[in-house]
Amino acid sequence: MIKDFEYLAPKTLKEALTLLDKYGDDCKIIGGGQSLLILMRQGLIAPKYLISIKGLSELSYIKETKEGLNIGALTTHRAIEKSPVIQKKFSVLAEMEQRLASIQTRNWGTIGGNLCHGEPAGDPAPVLIALKATLTIASLKGERSTAVEDFFVDYFEVALEHGELLTEIQLPAAPPRTGTAYTKFNVIQSDLATVGVAVSITLGSGDGICQDIRIALGATAPIAMRAKKAEEVLRGKKVTDNLLKEAGEVASTEAQPISDIAASEEYRRELVRVLVPRMAKEALTRAKA
Ligand SMILES: Cc1cc2nc3c(=O)[nH]c(=O)nc-3n(C[C@H](O)[C@H](O)[C@H](O)COP(=O)(O)OP(=O)(O)OC[C@H]3O[C@@H](n4cnc5c(N)ncnc54)[C@H](O)[C@@H]3O)c2cc1C
Repeated sequence: MIKDFEYLAPKTLKEALTLLDKYGDDCKIIGGGQSLLILMRQGLIAPKYLISIKGLSELSYIKETKEGLNIGALTTHRAIEKSPVIQKKFSVLAEMEQRLASIQTRNWGTIGGNLCHGEPAGDPAPVLIALKATLTIASLKGERSTAVEDFFVDYFEVALEHGELLTEIQLPAAPPRTGTAYTKFNVIQSDLATVGVAVSITLGSGDGICQDIRIALGATAPIAMRAKKAEEVLRGKKVTDNLLKEAGEVASTEAQPISDIAASEEYRRELVRVLVPRMAKEALTRAKA
């Protein structure tokens, strides 16, 4: 049963920030409500005020820039999935969205709400880490920027301070010869990941050497994490099947999964061992295309 609360619907970002600053721990921002309302219904949280940002069209956009692409925090999963520019330039993001929840949830849920919920099995986080995304966070004091991988603190905990609201996600344009791939293993279609793996590879010009690589894992630790030791297995080398296998083995030891209702710790490690080489191979194919 949801406890009574006061619903506030600011008309501008400035108004929302003012309310957020005023009510602090007594309030919660609500975007699409797809995650927040579950917590409220389960009685896990009971904010006195809900500040709805759903009406703030200034936070819902997908814009190409000289540096890459900016996505407003209030942009829905469905808008990202269907965006022609994202399908063309960041196809991995559209592919990820297609597998996130159901169409109904994707129509309401927002990318910003997903990240701020801090769910370790969320799909966007590993993909955005692989894509080197940065976040803009606003408060009455001004704006600050953070790498998406520094945003996650612990289970369902993100690096937002008093009065802060996530406003934008920035994706830098990928260097030439870069490929990125993501998959998640889940038992029920459109459910959260049992394990999610995103890999981005940039190849050197003509030599086929892996110049840069990012391997990001979801549902394998309290937060979405990079498998940095596994990246080192491949960075600066010509990628071979043996090295891919080794990278998978290293990533599976780096991961810190738990056993829960979805899978045992051992099973999750095995998924990482198998999916890291598989996604690295796919990223490699895309980098060569
Ligand atoms: C049936 C179902 C299946 C799902 N399956 C998946 C799945 O497969 N993969 C996956 O990744 N997710 C899944 N989800 C989770 C869900 O899609 C996302 O978490 C959702 O996108 C959250 O966005 P929202 O706008 O609804 O956030 P809300 O529920 O409104 O808010 C979530 C949290 O973020 C805060 N918040 C929201 N926006 C901001 C902001 N701009 N700045 C600061 N704080 C903010 C809120 O205060 C709250 O704490 C599923 C959810 C459901 C209900």
